[in-house]
Amino acid sequence: MQITSQTKTIALIGHPIAHSRSPEMHNAALQYYNLPYVYLAYDISIEQFSDAINGMKALGFIGWNVTIPHKVRIMEHLDECAVDASEIGAVNTVVRQDQKWIGYNTDGMGYLRSLKEEGKIDVKGKRVVILGAGGAARAVGYALATSAVEQIVVANRTLSKAEQLAKHLEKWTKTDVRPIYDCKQAIQEAALVVNTTSVGMHPHVNDCPIDPTWLHEDLLVSDLIYEPRQTALLQAASSIGAKTHNGLGMLIHQAAYAFELWLGKQAPIERMRSALTERG
Ligand code: NAP
Repeated sequence: MQITSQTKTIALIGHPIAHSRSPEMHNAALQYYNLPYVYLAYDISIEQFSDAINGMKALGFIGWNVTIPHKVRIMEHLDECAVDASEIGAVNTVVRQDQKWIGYNTDGMGYLRSLKEEGKIDVKGKRVVILGAGGAARAVGYALATSAVEQIVVANRTLSKAEQLAKHLEKWTKTDVRPIYDCKQAIQEAALVVNTTSVGMHPHVNDCPIDPTWLHEDLLVSDLIYEPRQTALLQAASSIGAKTHNGLGMLIHQAAYAFELWLGKQAPIERMRSALTERG
């Protein structure tokens, strides 16, 4: 694309940022429609944060993405937050709408869209085990809790964090949400297991968040990790005939939803996917 005096900027701010794949996905989508925007990543420290936000507002940005460690801090700089962002307690996408700055969280919706498209599961009435109770678990938990699942079990090595998350999610589902440490029994009764921990992520690719013998063939095993695409958990699931779903789809769909919020156009999912997979 040609950069002219009409070209505008959309950004990602976070710290660190060098590993991010968002610029590849978003620039591919912007170029697909030949839109006069570029998407750039900025490494912004906590000390620089307020100045950076004021700068983006003054420069007429239509919005930006926010990642670690600023997803909560950003909320006090916005006029409003959408329900999902308020309930998850974090914002990953800011959108300028009618002269206001609105915060969204596209992770939960991104996960659900990816699960539907690739996991081919209807979670309604199903029992789900979520491994982990961090930021990603909050987004995925909220998305599942608002999708009429029958039960959510939150398993985490720090039980108090599982208890906190379960209490929060209970507001959104009619059935019980249980915090536990040992999820062996819950996995036997579940249709979906979602790993939201970082266990198994590059470079610790041989690590598995649970004992793989607890898995069974009727499960869909979903892992939010996308590097590697096939984690030790997903390999163990495949080897016994269970269905698997990796984190790449969530990464693409959370970006796609942000693109739609900023530009009001359907995101070119396959173009965004190729932008990621072509480089590996
Ligand atoms: P986080 O807030 O730091 O939470 C990490 C979670 O992993 C916590 O529950 C933590 O347990 C658990 N954990 C970490 N090390 C562990 C270990 N050795 N054994 C057992 N549990 C362990 O991180 P996050 O932002 O939720 O991200 C978690 C993962 O999701 C990362 O791999 C990230 O790349 C992935 N993710 C993917 C996408 C996507 O688009 N695909 C989006 C967001 C995140 P404690 O509470 O006990 O510390």
